[in-house]
Amino acid sequence: MQLSKVPNPQFPSIQDISLYIRSADDSIGDSNLCGSSLEGRRSIADFFRLLDHVVVTTTGDYKLQKINDTLSPLTNPPIERSSPGNITAGKYLILGGGRVTFETLVTFSNILVARTESPTVKRIKRDGGGTISSVSSVRSIRDPPDDSQSFKMRLVYRDKGCAVCLAAEIQAIYKYREDSNRYEGAHIIALAYHDLWDTKRFSALVSDPFTDPANADSRFASPSTRTKKDFRRINSLENGILLCLQHHKDYDSFRFAIHPQTHQIFAFHPATAALQDVEVKAPWDSPNVLYPPPHPDFLKLHYVTSIANAMKGSGGDYELDVDDDDDYEGPSELEEIRNEQVKIWLDGLSPTTSSFDFMVDNKGNIETSADMRGVVSV
Ligand SMILES: [Zn+2]
Repeated sequence: MQLSKVPNPQFPSIQDISLYIRSADDSIGDSNLCGSSLEGRRSIADFFRLLDHVVVTTTGDYKLQKINDTLSPLTNPPIERSSPGNITAGKYLILGGGRVTFETLVTFSNILVARTESPTVKRIKRDGGGTISSVSSVRSIRDPPDDSQSFKMRLVYRDKGCAVCLAAEIQAIYKYREDSNRYEGAHIIALAYHDLWDTKRFSALVSDPFTDPANADSRFASPSTRTKKDFRRINSLENGILLCLQHHKDYDSFRFAIHPQTHQIFAFHPATAALQDVEVKAPWDSPNVLYPPPHPDFLKLHYVTSIANAMKGSGGDYELDVDDDDDYEGPSELEEIRNEQVKIWLDGLSPTTSSFDFMVDNKGNIETSADMRGVVSV
């Protein structure tokens, strides 16, 4: 039997919405901003909630006018944030009644860009999928297995099961010893971002007593706290959620995020659309100073990174070819890849790294030139 080459499947992108703005000369220019209708399941209201993070207008509000493939506006009435129903796939012109610009979101990656030195790029592959690979399996050399286990067991005690499955009533509590390998201690800020953790001095935001150096002499402290090797405290409960394998993968891949204040899930992928607006409760259910809940600043950074990932244009579609090998030693190669990726996506912008004020009311850079392409970077 003669074998032939396995055909390369043509996967569609989940980004089935393209957004456009008018240039200074009134022509319609590509905004490099995209979105997903979640296969027609994204409400118009939720789509505006996403856009609100990046769209800036001189008049304050904006509407969406559907346009055809030749970028001519259709006669449909513009869509407003109060319009009922779901957003449909297609091309939309953002109507601001004035200048429309975009803000760059400060995310896991570009918050560090000023610290990077011209890296050597290895193992970047062009994929066209437009998503970032999971980094969950990349283990920092400073995260000995003992610490992972200690982190997970504290999360098991606090959350009782996959926090998302419990909220969505998909699965009940973690009940049987044999089920241990179905759950993982998920980091909100992944171990691979330990540089970000250190630079922003996130250790100062955690109070988890099991990682507190003051408790190093307690036999109940986490292993690397006892041995006084962990000054980073990235394995603190404020940076963790207990998740099942699938939800851990989805969270690390930015397929959903948890709102830092409401704790409601925001879905970014059709596969997680059913989780939209589900409120995660488990980590906050039984307040206990020994087992603090996730820190809102960490949730917020993951949330904003997820938005940037979901809305960035297809022009910079790269996927990290992250090695899934648990024996991976050291983060340097991954850092190099990510740094290069940031450079590609930043497209000439230079975000500030001097503050942690990445919220909606105080985001990074604003495009100032009418003919510059708006860029959302990850
Ligand atoms: Zn789950």
